[in-house]
Amino acid sequence: MSVKENVQAIRERIRRSAEKSGRRAEDICLIGVSKTVDVDRIRQALDAGIVCLGENRVQEMRDKQPLLPENVQWHMIGRLQKNKVKYIIGKTAMIQSLCSIDVASEIQRISERENVVTQCLVQVNVGREATKGGVDIEELSSFLQEISRFDRIIIKGLMAVPPALSDPEAVRPFFACMKRLYDGLPETKQIQKEWLSMGMSGDFDIAIEEGANMVRVGSSIFGERVY
Ligand SMILES: *Cc1c(COP(=O)(O)O)cnc(C)c1O
Repeated sequence: MSVKENVQAIRERIRRSAEKSGRRAEDICLIGVSKTVDVDRIRQALDAGIVCLGENRVQEMRDKQPLLPENVQWHMIGRLQKNKVKYIIGKTAMIQSLCSIDVASEIQRISERENVVTQCLVQVNVGREATKGGVDIEELSSFLQEISRFDRIIIKGLMAVPPALSDPEAVRPFFACMKRLYDGLPETKQIQKEWLSMGMSGDFDIAIEEGANMVRVGSSIFGERVY
């Protein structure tokens, strides 16, 4: 199937899952995860109506940005090192992988310098996996407390990458847990809840049923990645 057909098929699945949970397809944001994908294939996705692209490496995102239209909204979804923050501030719609005070303090510093505010999601390590990034569930509220001094950071919600399990149904409790955390977030000047980002190619239907309104889909759009 072509990239365009893949996008259409995913939109149809999004619509069905959204309806199951009493929402509309338009309320769900589809991020095309374009890591390792060449710009020609990415253009096919943009032609099919994708507006948001997710990348997990700063350098790769910087290489692609000048080659693609300016209206693309770039989302940083991968582990972010402090020394790379300066390359993406003002050039990303959202940093979805915020989980370190150190990085937050650098986002604050560069955002001040560039006179912008930076929208972020806090990544939660919902499966308590040693190999994954994200704030521990127990530490979420103290993390939010600590970053509340950074007035150049706006928190738009939460992001998670639950454990990769062969049965997507087994992931459902992790999505449900994220929804509870999301619902429990306070609304403040800094915390402006809008997005619960969870669900990837293998499980985005279930993520939406459990309350996700932003899904990050790579291989189901572009095909399997070869690393
Ligand atoms: C790669 C990646 C995705 C997309 O994964 P697919 O299984 O290819 O859809 C989503 N989120 C993050 C954080 C990723 O790194």
